[in-house]
Amino acid sequence: MPLKYPRAKGTHDLFPGAASWEEDSHRCHYLEDIFRGVSNLYGYSEIRTPVFEPTELFTRSIGEATDIVSKEMYTLVTKGGDSLTLRPESTAPVLRAYVQNSLYASGGVSKLFYCASHFRYERAQKGRYRQHEQLGVEALGADDPALDAEVIALALAFFRRIGIHNLTLKLNSVGSLESRAAYLVALKEFVLPHLPEFSGEGQARFETNPLRLLDTKNARELEILSSAPHLSAYLTDEERLHHETLIGYLTDAGVDFEPDPFLVRGFDYYTKTAFEIQSPDLGAQNALGGGGRYNKLVEQIGGPPTPGIGFGLGVERALIALQALAVEMPPPPCPTAFIIIQGQSARPVGIKLLSDLRAAGIAAETDYGSRSMKAQMRAADKAHARYALILGDDEVAQNVIQLKNLYDSWQHTIPLAEAVEWLSSDGPPAR
Ligand code: AMP
Repeated sequence: MPLKYPRAKGTHDLFPGAASWEEDSHRCHYLEDIFRGVSNLYGYSEIRTPVFEPTELFTRSIGEATDIVSKEMYTLVTKGGDSLTLRPESTAPVLRAYVQNSLYASGGVSKLFYCASHFRYERAQKGRYRQHEQLGVEALGADDPALDAEVIALALAFFRRIGIHNLTLKLNSVGSLESRAAYLVALKEFVLPHLPEFSGEGQARFETNPLRLLDTKNARELEILSSAPHLSAYLTDEERLHHETLIGYLTDAGVDFEPDPFLVRGFDYYTKTAFEIQSPDLGAQNALGGGGRYNKLVEQIGGPPTPGIGFGLGVERALIALQALAVEMPPPPCPTAFIIIQGQSARPVGIKLLSDLRAAGIAAETDYGSRSMKAQMRAADKAHARYALILGDDEVAQNVIQLKNLYDSWQHTIPLAEAVEWLSSDGPPAR
């Protein structure tokens, strides 16, 4: 039957037990929990920003000639005539919040993490959605390569914790606006004789923002650009030292990386370090996450000069990789007790026991709709409950209840008044 109101293209429903792991609410939550834990371990605290922001925040910071700003933003005009955009990324919003709430006033480095939905009008396909979830961090207040190394280490630690070990870390330095200016002259000189072979989009980028030429996915353009000059030759001494120091820290920590002289990532605001984490288990959309340094962005957004670095990791891509690798995850929490009720007089007693168990902090469940004993036992099994508490009119008459361990079929009749006590001393299910 055709759906009356199907969901918008490129979006997902997340629900328990979904066949595709990127649609499984429990698995998604599990990744977020691990990310929160790893972020806390590295000293990062959560920040939450609005889902939409004034459009200019994104156009000015990400760059007018980027794909995101020129093609992918969900922008709406309010009744009052304001232009608002659903956040396509979180760095600009987090920095806006950092400035607006004077987080810099506390001095030192502000270390923030987020779990946020992002919206981009992209060609929907596996691993590329119009609403996707990112886990990210922003570390603001130091231009220290040790902080770059920390941020990269945090991202890698997260992937290790969730069970993705086969990773490639691509690393580059994109210099600064000043060092890039000299590079862009050289890049344009190199591209000019080949320009007729470039797509219309490539030719437009040549004029408006030549660094974005390096973002191309066009095979012919990539082939031409493979012998283009490298940005690294145009870095200042200070930028080169920063990059080499970072490489030293990564090497000391045993972090493998691949230098990628053409990695610029899709945002104009990066300075110095740019990195991407890829998985060979993902197919075409192989980027699990990426980030970089943005030493001018806080100033650009109206705050005091503040260097910073961060990353964003795609939750759906991580889950796709985990499914491809068949990595085991802890099962969803299951009830300790499942009350099976048979008979009219047992019903209020069973419902009261359910409430007493929950009040005592014991996860308890029952079946609704007065179904047969067999259907209720099946429901208890399906819920992976540890104990069934069976209560019929006979038990109520004798003030007892049958306690059955569903893991080993051990069964015992206990006084009804002791049911909560029996289960509370038992601890959580060991399944
Ligand atoms: P970006 O914000 O473009 O640096 O992306 C960071 C990470 O978010 C990427 O490496 C992907 O893992 C993920 N990501 C970005 N765009 C999408 C999308 N449209 N659908 C799913 N995941 C995405």
